[in-house]
Amino acid sequence: MADFRRYVIVGNGFAGTTAAEQLRKHDLSCEIHLFGDEPYTLYNRISLPPMLRKQIPEAKVMIRDLAWHEEHRIDLHLRTRVERVVPEERVVVADGKTYPYDALLIATGGRPNPIGKPGSDGAGNVYNFQYLDDTRAISERLESSKVAVAIGGSYIAYELAEAFATRKVETHWLIRGPHFLHRVLDELAGEFVDLAAKDEGVHVHYGQEVAEFVRSNGEATGVRTQSGLEIAADCYGVGFGLTMNTELAAGTGIEYGKNGILCDDRLETNVGGIYAAGDVADFFDPTLEMRYRMGTWNNAGAHGKVVAINMMGGSERYHDVPEYSSQLFKGQTITQFGLAPDLQPDLQTVRKIDREKGWYRALFFWEDRLVGGLMLGKGNRAGKRKYVEAIKSKERFPKPDWEPMLDWTA
Ligand SMILES: Cc1cc2nc3c(=O)[nH]c(=O)nc-3n(C[C@H](O)[C@H](O)[C@H](O)COP(=O)(O)OP(=O)(O)OC[C@H]3O[C@@H](n4cnc5c(N)ncnc54)[C@H](O)[C@@H]3O)c2cc1C
Repeated sequence: MADFRRYVIVGNGFAGTTAAEQLRKHDLSCEIHLFGDEPYTLYNRISLPPMLRKQIPEAKVMIRDLAWHEEHRIDLHLRTRVERVVPEERVVVADGKTYPYDALLIATGGRPNPIGKPGSDGAGNVYNFQYLDDTRAISERLESSKVAVAIGGSYIAYELAEAFATRKVETHWLIRGPHFLHRVLDELAGEFVDLAAKDEGVHVHYGQEVAEFVRSNGEATGVRTQSGLEIAADCYGVGFGLTMNTELAAGTGIEYGKNGILCDDRLETNVGGIYAAGDVADFFDPTLEMRYRMGTWNNAGAHGKVVAINMMGGSERYHDVPEYSSQLFKGQTITQFGLAPDLQPDLQTVRKIDREKGWYRALFFWEDRLVGGLMLGKGNRAGKRKYVEAIKSKERFPKPDWEPMLDWTA
């Protein structure tokens, strides 16, 4: 038995790398193996859209280099896929070798769903947008593109549409639903985003489900929708959500589902000594008192910190109200905090709209507790801290209080 703790972390994204950093900070003698199947040290996925828009150089996307891992004595295994976890022997298998662990972290994130329509398979100019390699490939393609199509009603599809427009390529945005982010925003909020998109010259096509791609010489030359719309383009970007990388849990006894790897509020799975963090963790939130998965950068980092403490034998519960903010084209911003109806469809919503200012605000309630909210519009963030405090406090608000809460500003 080793007289130092051995940690294995699968996935060198923000969750995994943060956990490795914290483990080293608190334990100078431990051994840390960090595995990543991409060829890169940690880079900032949030910076991929500005890189695609050519607003920042690639160097700014990189967060950690090899020297940092050496300095922190983190054994980094790049281009190395962990193939198996064997909980009975407390080892993982990668590259034909076994690596023993006292605590194991699975921080494997998700992979983008391919569009999976006739003609898309193997088309050299139909891209997902998740990795640095995707960003490089799309960026290069845009250099010689005149028309580009973004497909999907998600944040990623939005980022693609905005990047295409910023790169001065004629941009079409195909959305299957009635408006952007239709599981979170209602029609009125959708209108605001629509205006912001049109102001950038983006042609937005709603209610359009892709039927097939037209192919020639290994590339897509056009896309056809089920209602017969046809657009010929040089570049196609797809934002169709993620499939969680849960394969390592299969057959091990670790509980997992479509939504990720199940873990408690300490981010430990049902198998002692094995933890999950970041995008792949379907965790129990003690504040909201429910289980969900959160695909945001801050959540990944915060998970990384908490999970490291627990991997060392501590007992820290993950207490946070997740937040997400983003610009939507030049004319709009969106701020989301806590839960939204895409994660929990049974929430009750109150909302308020100010057409003149282009402001929209929605608050989400679960029974009589505030659990989340959304603010759309530049300068429409006042009161956010108070909302977050109200969520954390678990205070109960009778229904007549809900509408007046939309006016909170302090
Ligand atoms: C283009 C883009 C823009 C985004 N913008 C925002 C934003 O504005 N705000 C925000 O909050 N969030 C944003 N996000 C989401 C945010 O980046 C993610 O929530 C966060 O990076 C997740 O980190 P993670 O460490 O959990 O997983 P990941 O970053 O997905 O890292 C997991 C890593 O593990 C690797 N891996 C998987 N399986 C194995 C295996 N078996 N062996 C070895 N390695 C494996 C994966 O390939 C990957 O490299 C964006 C994401 C993208 C793609």
